[in-house]
Amino acid sequence: MVHTQAHDLFRRLLQDVERFVLTTHVNPDGDAIGSEIALARFLGERGKQVRIVNGDATPETLRFIEQPEGRVEVYDPELHDKLIDEAGLIVLVDNSAPDRLGRMEATMMAAADRTLCIDHHPARDAPWAHNIVDVESCATAAMIFELTRTAGWKPDFEAAEAIYVGLATDTGFFRFNSTNAEAHRVAAEVLRIGVEPAHAYQQVYERNSAAYTRLLGHALTGLTVSAGGAVASVGLDRALISSLEAEDVDAGEITTPLLAMDGVRVAILFRELPDGRIKVSLRSKGDLDVHRLATEFGGGGHRNASGIVSDGPMDRVVAAVTERAAALLVQRSA
Ligand code: 5GP
Ligand code: MN
Repeated sequence: MVHTQAHDLFRRLLQDVERFVLTTHVNPDGDAIGSEIALARFLGERGKQVRIVNGDATPETLRFIEQPEGRVEVYDPELHDKLIDEAGLIVLVDNSAPDRLGRMEATMMAAADRTLCIDHHPARDAPWAHNIVDVESCATAAMIFELTRTAGWKPDFEAAEAIYVGLATDTGFFRFNSTNAEAHRVAAEVLRIGVEPAHAYQQVYERNSAAYTRLLGHALTGLTVSAGGAVASVGLDRALISSLEAEDVDAGEITTPLLAMDGVRVAILFRELPDGRIKVSLRSKGDLDVHRLATEFGGGGHRNASGIVSDGPMDRVVAAVTERAAALLVQRSA
């Protein structure tokens, strides 16, 4: 639930500002883009000038919610530093961590005193002037729905679909632990506006490339099971990624079949990035908290879905993270 004070803060901040820039975390996901699009349409209808500027491009699978097409701009210091400098308010959605802003970190830090953060991740020492953070919320998109509705708005179809995509992708189509009554209530409301769940699902999850499907196959063949069957992990190194021409593939969902194995409590995907660092995706079941594990390595996220970006090499990161995952299970059963 977004508190009354937050609704007041939201309304007060919007009133006095004409020029907005919206942004989010690196590698934007459905909740990030969905929240931005919905908020941009709300502000646009209020006669505000709004630009959406992200550090990374929108993944192909989420382009359909970018209404109008190309609405989201990819950060270019020459084009956007002045824009950010001159904006009355910058709204950072679905992220509060400066180190998840990638190339935009320095520019955003310089504008921290004009930034409103709207997020559902646990925040650590966030530097932003205004914060609407609700860790109980299933998705930032659900928060945007609440905030704009209380401000008197009824989303149009495009905004409703963007909100639905944010909500549905962040809850694993209403199956993760984060799925609560709010998730279903907001879903019901946007469905009444005309959103079609089957269409949204097809757009996001049924347009995988052959490269992704091959990558999935290779990843699963290399499955490692440890900690007495409780930890399942797979790795994707550069050689494999480039031999399958899977450079641009979003691999996060590879954890899903790992977590579906009987007895597995923690699923881990290790992926070597082009610069040699290792991206670790952690997923867990029930009250097992991978967020704690992620923070040990400087990462973050939620209880059941967290991530880390660590310096390589792969072997060292695999050994260290797997060992700490096993320790987490031992602590819990002790
Ligand atoms: P994914 O594995 O899908 O990239 O990320 C899962 C969750 O972990 C995301 O919701 C995101 O909040 C968080 N996350 C992923 N990578 C990082 C990271 O490098 N740092 C922090 N603080 N959080 C991350
Ligand atoms: Mn989110």
